[in-house]
Amino acid sequence: MTNPGESDVLLVGAGPAGVSAAQWFHTYDVDVDWVSRDGRVGGILPRVQNPIENYPGANFADGAELADALADQVDEAPYSSPRAAAVRAIQRTDRGLDVEFEDDVPRVYRRILLATGTRFRRLGVPGEEAGLGEYVSQSTSADAERFAGREVAIVGGGDAGFEGALQLAETGSSVHMLLRSETHRARPQFVEPVESHPEIRIHPIPTVVRSIQPASGRQGCRLEIEIQGEASHLDVACLFVRIGVEPVYPPCYPNIQTTDAGYIDVDDDHRTSVEGLFAAGEVVGPRLPAVSTAVGDGADAAHVIADSLGHL
Ligand SMILES: Cc1cc2nc3c(=O)[nH]c(=O)nc-3n(C[C@H](O)[C@H](O)[C@H](O)COP(=O)(O)OP(=O)(O)OC[C@H]3O[C@@H](n4cnc5c(N)ncnc54)[C@H](O)[C@@H]3O)c2cc1C
Repeated sequence: MTNPGESDVLLVGAGPAGVSAAQWFHTYDVDVDWVSRDGRVGGILPRVQNPIENYPGANFADGAELADALADQVDEAPYSSPRAAAVRAIQRTDRGLDVEFEDDVPRVYRRILLATGTRFRRLGVPGEEAGLGEYVSQSTSADAERFAGREVAIVGGGDAGFEGALQLAETGSSVHMLLRSETHRARPQFVEPVESHPEIRIHPIPTVVRSIQPASGRQGCRLEIEIQGEASHLDVACLFVRIGVEPVYPPCYPNIQTTDAGYIDVDDDHRTSVEGLFAAGEVVGPRLPAVSTAVGDGADAAHVIADSLGHL
């Protein structure tokens, strides 16, 4: 990797897909300007609390341990680590791909690989953003102990929601499950114990959170909710939002084509609808969203880009 201003290629993201792409760009002797939003290696992995036992070569106690292993490998490699820079927008012009960064000068590249992954999905209701880190949480593993023995609420009808409800109840909390839809997407191994747990109450379905306000005079929040169409409210110490992940990528001009679910649409060669712009990893909505598939996708995209620049 060289001086950012001299690179043909911009690699955005340093999760498993980005790290794998960086390794293969180095193998193919492609000069790359490598950025990640925080300059760290690991992507979403430090926020994965479960053990990672389905990546060949080693087991990891949690995502942070795998992120550390990736960071150590990058530190020892002959190429540079990612620099801290967030891409704000990308525009296709006659010169190539013009990139605007947050807190950095704009630059032009011939190719860009977006390995920008996903982020935890939010409800998008008033008061949610302001409560994050206080009385709104996106992680039961990280925050269950903080609210042990108190009244809490959780939204999410998938594995994360149901497993999270059990985790919260195990700390002695009284748990309100607020579900939007009848069909549970969670595995039976989580659903059955939740349904029979004396400290978990599944509210009538659908129950929808409309807004979140800090509770006056004490810690916690008041949720304005709608239970089967009837307005109501619920006072809890914390609302846990466990509704999956969503793709994240900067705005592109012309608009980048996406799938119905909002992931970046790519062809078999990782090409997006914008010339010169490629995407790989979880941001393209793989059938199996996993470290192993992200790593393979990043490597293959780097190969295609290297080939397109005459490096093979
Ligand atoms: C709760 C949970 C549990 C999981 N458990 C497992 C498991 O057990 N086994 C398994 O194999 N997989 C698991 N996964 C999936 C795995 O973590 C992902 O598939 C993998 O991290 C995807 O890698 P990625 O590189 O595509 O994206 P990410 O890891 O999301 O990395 C994205 C990168 O892009 C950067 N970025 C984003 N936007 C910008 C921008 N505008 N400018 C600059 N940089 C930007 C970020 O800083 C980050 O470096 C789990 C995921 C979650 C959420």
